[in-house]
Amino acid sequence: MSGKLFVIGFGPGSFEHITKRAREAIEESDIIIGYTTYVDLIRGLLTDQEIVSTGMTEEVTRAREAVRQAEAGKKVAVISSGDAGVYGMAGLVYEVLVEKGWTSAEGVEVEIVPGISAINSCGALLGAPIMHDACTISLSDHLTPWELIAKRIDAAGMADFVIALYNPRSGRRTRQIVEAQRILLQYRSPDTPVGIVKSAYREREHIVITTLAEMLNHDIGMLTTVIIGNSSTFVYDGKMITPRGYQRKYTLATDEQSLKPHQRLRVENEPWSLEAASQNAVEQAAPDATSSLVEPQVEKADTASLRATPQPKEETGTLTPFDWAAQALQAVNESRGIETDASLVSSSQSHRPVFVPEMIFECAVSPGVANKKFTPAQMMALAQAAGEKGELEYTPHHQIILRVPTSNPEEVTAPLRNLGLILTPVGDVLQVKACDFCDGEKKDAIPYAEEIHRKLGGQEMPKELKIGVNGCGMACYGAVQEDIGLVFRKGRFDLFLGAKTVGRTAHSGLPVAEGIEPEDIVPLIERIIDRYKREAFPNERFHKFFQRVGEIEGYVWREPAIPKIENAVCGD
Ligand code: SAH
Repeated sequence: MSGKLFVIGFGPGSFEHITKRAREAIEESDIIIGYTTYVDLIRGLLTDQEIVSTGMTEEVTRAREAVRQAEAGKKVAVISSGDAGVYGMAGLVYEVLVEKGWTSAEGVEVEIVPGISAINSCGALLGAPIMHDACTISLSDHLTPWELIAKRIDAAGMADFVIALYNPRSGRRTRQIVEAQRILLQYRSPDTPVGIVKSAYREREHIVITTLAEMLNHDIGMLTTVIIGNSSTFVYDGKMITPRGYQRKYTLATDEQSLKPHQRLRVENEPWSLEAASQNAVEQAAPDATSSLVEPQVEKADTASLRATPQPKEETGTLTPFDWAAQALQAVNESRGIETDASLVSSSQSHRPVFVPEMIFECAVSPGVANKKFTPAQMMALAQAAGEKGELEYTPHHQIILRVPTSNPEEVTAPLRNLGLILTPVGDVLQVKACDFCDGEKKDAIPYAEEIHRKLGGQEMPKELKIGVNGCGMACYGAVQEDIGLVFRKGRFDLFLGAKTVGRTAHSGLPVAEGIEPEDIVPLIERIIDRYKREAFPNERFHKFFQRVGEIEGYVWREPAIPKIENAVCGD
């Protein structure tokens, strides 16, 4: 009879989470070898197997015993919780075999049976905290020097890995988790979500979602796994969730500018990707199609890899206290004409570069609500803001859209604001589109346009919404063609609601009121917008909303004169 050695991971500890193969292997075995608690966890699966259960510290003894019994012709199952290859018995069993000169061709048969490791079971209980690049770090310095563990925590923190801490604390080892928290706080916000799971899928299961700052205020022990989120992990409805990638775009005031599904996969929305980097490189190396044919390949690859390498960030927001101190020292020394130890300064600059993903920042720029003229200085500042990697898009809405990859939007926006430019978010937001009031000559309505912009401009809407404000009855800037139109005439406002602004069946807004007193106009618009925001469906344009609800502020919707014409499919 030939022996066999199974090394089995039986998962977190519940029967439902033991794999079929693991059950079969346990049933097939003559002898089960494992830590007492583990044997107890699978006792329900056992029939007449002989059990060799020993204490925790006798792992080597257990592995040796297992090999000895298998070589004597027995089928032996060595059991580990979770996966046997993750801080389990699999490696140790192989080490014992290697020591004896075992080979798979001649030695006893070995089968490693995979199981659900704590990172998976605890992750599932917490929601979806893993999702993206993650690592496991055991805080047990029983077999690994603490300096090495600390280095790994540091590296994982720096590289923005989601981290699952195994063996986080025992009765004797209490400092390691404190130290781990301290290291990670150098790279991650104190608000970073942290999940603490004790005894996943076992009797005394306990789940806590807390933060990096607060994590030590909770019970953490031998049966606990601590999962630390990355810079984009968030908590929603008691679940810890890490998005699959990094946020692709953001605009003023809103933290997140979600892209529509068809936009998500475009290379230009993923400026950090290698593909985007190569495209940039190709575009830069080959401004026209003909020269791209003769462009040497090597150069492209070089530029691409350069761009794909994360550059250490030097903006103030990412400096550590150590950097500040080194810079201060350097400044003091410089003022006294003393040279600063170069290693100190250079190590300060490369020291702890906090991971800040670079994203495309996007905002709309205009010279004013009424003013339509950019100064040369503003134009130059805009060009500078866009830099080499950004772009400026001219739109039909009295705005230029600035898009630029950056991890620090303040750096981009501050100089533009200082020059008096108005910056507003883009996307489904409210925009005030005023005329130029005959170059400021017909200025009576300007304060109202500005007040509406101040109060509502840039606010998120169910769908993009434009309010046109024109300063005289000529309405040459087309206020009546906007979702909401205001035309100032003889000291009062006429109101137009629900233009269909695009498409071949576009039509003007319904003239719903004439001669509204100026002091009533801003509150009236605020009430209309408030209702639209509260009651419109997501993506419902204002004219559709008006038609659906039939009445807004007492103004009743009527069928506009729409020409009988087939609506065109986009792109036709
Ligand atoms: N081989 C196991 C890990 C063994 S090391 C696996 O793959 O999961 C022991 C550590 O694993 C514990 O300190 C704890 O951090 C983690 N662990 C194992 N089972 C767990 C469970 N059911 N719930 C929470 N953590 C668990």
